[in-house]
Amino acid sequence: MEAGRASTVRLETIVSLAKRRGFVYPGSEIYGGLANTWDFGPLGAELKRNLKNAWWEFFIQRREDMLGLDGGILLHPRVWEASGHVEEFNDPLVDCRRCKSRFRADTLIEEKLERSSEGLSIEDMTRIIQESNLACPVCGARDWTPVRKFNLMFRTFIGPVEEQSTLVYLRPETAQAIFINFKQVVQTSRVKIPFGIGQVGKAFRNEITPGNFIFRLLEFEQMEIEYFIRPETWEEYFDHWLNEMARFLRWIGFKPDRLRTREHGPQELSHYSKKTIDFEYLFPFGWKELCGLAYRTDYDLRRHQEYSGEDLTYFDQERNERFIPHVIEPTMGVERLLLALLCDAYDEEPAVDVNGNPYTRVVLRFNPRIAPYKAAVLPLMRKPELVEVAREVARELRQHGRIEYDETQSIGRRYRRQDEIGTPYCITIDYQTLDDRTVTIRDRDTMQQVRVPIDRLNVELAERLQSA
Ligand code: ATP
Repeated sequence: MEAGRASTVRLETIVSLAKRRGFVYPGSEIYGGLANTWDFGPLGAELKRNLKNAWWEFFIQRREDMLGLDGGILLHPRVWEASGHVEEFNDPLVDCRRCKSRFRADTLIEEKLERSSEGLSIEDMTRIIQESNLACPVCGARDWTPVRKFNLMFRTFIGPVEEQSTLVYLRPETAQAIFINFKQVVQTSRVKIPFGIGQVGKAFRNEITPGNFIFRLLEFEQMEIEYFIRPETWEEYFDHWLNEMARFLRWIGFKPDRLRTREHGPQELSHYSKKTIDFEYLFPFGWKELCGLAYRTDYDLRRHQEYSGEDLTYFDQERNERFIPHVIEPTMGVERLLLALLCDAYDEEPAVDVNGNPYTRVVLRFNPRIAPYKAAVLPLMRKPELVEVAREVARELRQHGRIEYDETQSIGRRYRRQDEIGTPYCITIDYQTLDDRTVTIRDRDTMQQVRVPIDRLNVELAERLQSA
């Protein structure tokens, strides 16, 4: 599949590998499952952590003009009035009167009627669905409710009484915590515009049609940056962040062939955006948004200034000028990137096992930067003298990241398992090791093995991981 990479992997293949190997499990499975929720197993947890660390390193640690923040999930309810989410963060919803199935009206129009839903009002959608005589994809009836707006924010209550005055929302994006702390960050750090604040954390959206595995979730993590600039420089910084996002995607291992950018049409833009470009990935279910870049203007800070009554202007000392900064926002979803990474890394190829038998080798070609395990240490057999050396080697190598030690099953099956979970290197301790203190390093992608002295292993592994 690797050569040319014309077609992408089937989604079921990824779902089943993810479950079998412990990347992603269906949520609350022992209770019969909770629809559209997922839990991340040991390998998924590592992958997620590596991805978030890579993001933090690339966008925050390595840049002088970036700071981090960790805001709350529960914010003052007025925040979401100011941000426009109470008013605008809606999806158009339509029900089948017969089977009670619920759909997003815009998706129905696009997928079943194959026409654009861009710019359509609620009334337009109701009329189009009625007039087209569209059949319910579930039961085939042609009896639809009018289209209604449905707000995507989850609601909960603080304290024992469930009433309007105690209503709070689970944040649907991390961005607002950054805007409402803008003033505090400027006051407590010596930052000058242009500068940015980044945050990684959970967001919640009561999506009407979640699905496609972990593509659209009710609960997910975002990695967002709000980059504050002078208004007249927005095009320069928009281009800068578009390049940085592309560079990051390559840095974590994406190949360019299944990535493209797409600019939003005027009707498609979010209520706060003047320009948006999405990075799209060729998922098994087609080209879909992976992550995005938006020019949010001064919309958020201006609205928060209005709603809170606080002065959120910035004073430019060099120019002796006060203004509300404008904002460029690069945003990424952790789980969506993770799904794309799994699909992008997945490969199958004909191979021959250690006994000379042909088999189909499944390999996740993760970049070592994000691979759950950096290496696996494998004693050829479970003999005490080999196990002892292997455990010592594994312990020593753990300074480079997560190292798996595995002494079960035949060596061939252990290599297969490591290929399937994307471990870049397998280090095997055999009888020759006991004679001359050398071990083999097997490269996941080429399957080539080389012998190196144990004393050089640390340096060897570090070099290989760093050159990735
Ligand atoms: P979509 O059009 O797919 O609903 P969006 O344009 O509303 O997404 P943004 O609000 O721009 O998405 O969110 C930023 C990023 O967060 C997206 O690019 C995506 O990676 C991720 N994301 C958004 N919604 C979800 C979700 N329901 N589940 C998983 N990830 C999501």
